[in-house]
Amino acid sequence: MDEAKSIEMLLEHGIRPTANRITMVKALALAEHPLTMTELEDLVDTIDKSNVFRALSLFREHHLVHVLQDGADAVRYELCHSHENGHDDDIHVHFYCERCGQTFCLNEIAVPRVALPEGYHLHTINYLIKGVCPKCRD
Ligand SMILES: [Zn+2]
Ligand SMILES: [Zn+2]
Repeated sequence: MDEAKSIEMLLEHGIRPTANRITMVKALALAEHPLTMTELEDLVDTIDKSNVFRALSLFREHHLVHVLQDGADAVRYELCHSHENGHDDDIHVHFYCERCGQTFCLNEIAVPRVALPEGYHLHTINYLIKGVCPKCRD
């Protein structure tokens, strides 16, 4: 993702694009898998850790990132590619490989719709499948 696209994404989500935030969006966009905060910190090691934490909180608030729990109980972040602020249309299934510990985005598999009882309001869905990935099965 280039600079212009990163700035556009930040603005679309109502976040002022600062140099640090742009760097973080780029790192998240380049990552092949959802990142833990530590992994992200390592990728953007020019940025102070407390600033990474603050920016991530801001990204969460503005729905620029999805937050998911992986199979090892670590919290991971990925960019939300949905364009409408507040309405996620790109929530997808995640797959956790119990052998290599990697978390995969199954972007083409949408999370099944669940009919909630009255009074419950859906905010977000975490749908994680655990098993063995193709690489580890070989
Ligand atoms: Zn694996
Ligand atoms: Zn994902």
